[in-house]
Amino acid sequence: MESKKQQMSKPIIEVDGLTVRFGNEIALSGVSFSVESGEVVAIVGPNGSGKTTLVRAILNLVPFSGTILINGKRVSEALERMGYVPQRFHFDLTVPLTVQEFLKLPFPHLSERRFSRALLEVDMKGAEDRMLGTLSGGELQRVLIARSLVSNPTLLFLDEPTSAVDLVGTKGFYEIVSHLRKVHGTTVILISHEIHMVYQFADRIICLNRNLICYGKPEESITKEVLEKLYGKDMRFQPHKH
Ligand code: ADP
Ligand code: MG
Repeated sequence: MESKKQQMSKPIIEVDGLTVRFGNEIALSGVSFSVESGEVVAIVGPNGSGKTTLVRAILNLVPFSGTILINGKRVSEALERMGYVPQRFHFDLTVPLTVQEFLKLPFPHLSERRFSRALLEVDMKGAEDRMLGTLSGGELQRVLIARSLVSNPTLLFLDEPTSAVDLVGTKGFYEIVSHLRKVHGTTVILISHEIHMVYQFADRIICLNRNLICYGKPEESITKEVLEKLYGKDMRFQPHKH
């Protein structure tokens, strides 16, 4: 049997010297790291530290300099199926759509089974006929993730997925991520504020403050010095209170 190390030897994402400028502002400067297939990688950092920009560069949504390779190919030619749940997905909850209709909208040709399966993945089976407006914040988040799963992505990007969810919902969310990784081998890149959750669930952590401040296993990477570089001297590492 192939050892786990060999199976994981080919990076699915390679970022080298990534720099992103918006006019005179440098949002990301010389960022380099790689992600192995099947890993859960958390990106942490203060507001405005370039987390969303990093994900958007990997998705080829913002111009950048440096190199980003997805499975060895440039992002514009990447063949990998990618799912993306953007930060702050606000819409009018009185919109007259059921969960099933919302999932089906971008995929009118797919069979109902695909949508039911995606809902099952996020523990929302049976919600097909509910109106979007009746969902709680956590349930809506799950439906948004289900929508990104319909196309069976091998790479999934989640931008602050639990910011609108209570702590119970947050735990459930991380269990969904673990399930996707275990059962489907999905590589998950998630932007998170919950350093305590990241400790439990992420294989690797990327700390950003426009530069790369740390990269590696959470327990080895999040040192006092790193936290100071990210959040200043007053930051104390303590579980999130909701
Ligand atoms: P984070 O997600 O870590 O909060 P962002 O990646 O959204 O940070 O933003 C990093 C910096 O880049 C911020 O100063 C932000 O104002 C700037 N920025 C992000 N997107 C754009 C854009 N499309 N145009 C101009 N400036 C932007
Ligand atoms: Mg952001």
